[in-house]
Amino acid sequence: MAMRMSSLFLRTLREDPADAEVPSHRLLVRAGYIRRVSPGIYTWLPLGLKVLRRVETIVREEMDAIGSQELLFPALLPKEPYEESGRWTDYGDNIFRLHDRKGAEYLLGPTHEEMFALVVKDLFSSYKDLPLAIYQIQTKYRDEARPRAGILRGREFVMKDSYSFDTSKAGLDKSYQLHRDAYIRIFDRLGFHYVIVNAMAGAMGGSKSEEFLATAENGEDTYVRCPSCGYAANVEAVRVPVPDAVPYAGLPPAHVEDTPDTPTIDTLVDHLNTAFPREDRSWTAADTLKNVVVMLKHPDGTREPLAIGLPGDREVDEKRLGAQVDPAVVEAFDEAEFARNPALTKGYIGPGALGSDHPSGIRYLLDPRVVSGTAWVTGADEPGRHVIGLVAGRDFEGDGVIEAAEVRAGDLCPSCGHELEIARGIEMGHIFQLGTKYAEALGLRVLDESGRLVTVIMGSYGVGVSRAVAAVVEGNHDEAGIIWPRELAPADVHLVATGKDDAVFTFGEELTRELEANGLTVLYDDRRQVSPGVKFKDSELIGVPTIVVVGRGLADGRIEIKDRRSGERREVAVADAVREIL
Ligand code: ATP
Ligand code: MG
Ligand code: MG
Ligand code: MG
Repeated sequence: MAMRMSSLFLRTLREDPADAEVPSHRLLVRAGYIRRVSPGIYTWLPLGLKVLRRVETIVREEMDAIGSQELLFPALLPKEPYEESGRWTDYGDNIFRLHDRKGAEYLLGPTHEEMFALVVKDLFSSYKDLPLAIYQIQTKYRDEARPRAGILRGREFVMKDSYSFDTSKAGLDKSYQLHRDAYIRIFDRLGFHYVIVNAMAGAMGGSKSEEFLATAENGEDTYVRCPSCGYAANVEAVRVPVPDAVPYAGLPPAHVEDTPDTPTIDTLVDHLNTAFPREDRSWTAADTLKNVVVMLKHPDGTREPLAIGLPGDREVDEKRLGAQVDPAVVEAFDEAEFARNPALTKGYIGPGALGSDHPSGIRYLLDPRVVSGTAWVTGADEPGRHVIGLVAGRDFEGDGVIEAAEVRAGDLCPSCGHELEIARGIEMGHIFQLGTKYAEALGLRVLDESGRLVTVIMGSYGVGVSRAVAAVVEGNHDEAGIIWPRELAPADVHLVATGKDDAVFTFGEELTRELEANGLTVLYDDRRQVSPGVKFKDSELIGVPTIVVVGRGLADGRIEIKDRRSGERREVAVADAVREIL
């Protein structure tokens, strides 16, 4: 049924809301799509809800198409599963916590890995039941430190979260790929310009992870991209969360205990070479060293990450550091290292910045300060994050998160050497290979072919459904208002009737019915007391893709069709109206 402006629950605003920092926030409030209730908490008005539902439909269709099955969890959750996974604590202030009348503790779900793992544990018991993919489109709660930009970063928001369950890494790879492909279709249909960037798994745990970032100046995510080979990574990608690190799986346990407590450059290098004996490894020095992180402890107890990775390029490092590299330190280290590590063939190893997470990306880094500091060696190798020689809880306190070094435009692409560009984006989707983190914590196991219990391997995949509404507006607006892509618009046609002539309004009704009979949805501005100027302004602000104006021209048998995006207008004969609008 057509929406009629005379009765629609809508009031557009001429003024920008005082708290609006970005165009999407400003326009969605002014055009009557959303209303603020409290910081980061918004009401969806009728027009807004229509758009939100359209986004949901696209997401739902693409999830169903890969065989994922929809279900719905409560948002109000008991704390126990989140205690078992460790996230009751890890999430810290970001969780909304509450308790019932008996004092039992609850939370409002920020994301649902635990609940999905538990429901599968509850119902399935055999490898024959897998693979499985299930999802929900649901309201999430996070007490964001800085809710901002309207629904871009809400404290209550709608997310599609899916989870895959497999018994092998190959199965996980397949499930991950299916979701990745589905996400490409979703973000294409939503009309985004986006990039897929490498991403670390953040608080989630796990190994492979990519983000879908809508390119946007107002985005909170910074990423680097290579215009030559297409390499792209979130600058956050080099964050290495330490507390839930586990011993490196490929090393004999002896080496785990062997890390010198206070290494000098020499003992450090010795340690690395013992930890990665060349004859024992099928991987190269580059493979292993890229994942090694050295923590530097200052006399006042503060710690700082240093990285050891690939041989670097002295000029690049100097440019990056904006300083001369100390040749004495570098030479001493180079000499020692080349003597011990024939796999390294480049002529320079020196101070640098923490690089990207690309396989060849983290360059050799040794800060001169390490000579007098106390260093811990940690490593991260696929799958998951690992610590060599290092006991979490004993050697680390605090959140132990290693901050990304600043990446600058002009830094070189770790993949092809071309100059990197820096850009900003909005995180629209995030896919993770979780591995066994949640399945282990919650005891999700199934019987394999030989009757043994094996831990299920999970993937998790999120789309910011409500965020998408705002992000689409960020990329689709002009000074006058929103310009919806057709698939998301609250209606296909915005029909504006002007003047006082009854015939105009009668014709408007007829045209509305005819358009609807042809499968189009219509927003009909049938208001009698409102001036044409105000109606035109509203139609531009609201942003329906096709605007049809019926007015004075009707007497001569003509109406006007306007394309909201191009601004192009044309007059057509009334007899051709429906055909021209379709
Ligand atoms: P961000 O980096 O923006 O805080 P996130 O990495 O914490 O997002 P995920 O846990 O990966 O978010 O959640 C999956 C998706 O949910 C994100 O890709 C994003 O699109 C959406 N999302 C996350 N937080 C919010 C929020 N506060 N408001 C709206 N959407 C959000
Ligand atoms: Mg977040
Ligand atoms: Mg993020
Ligand atoms: Mg994320």
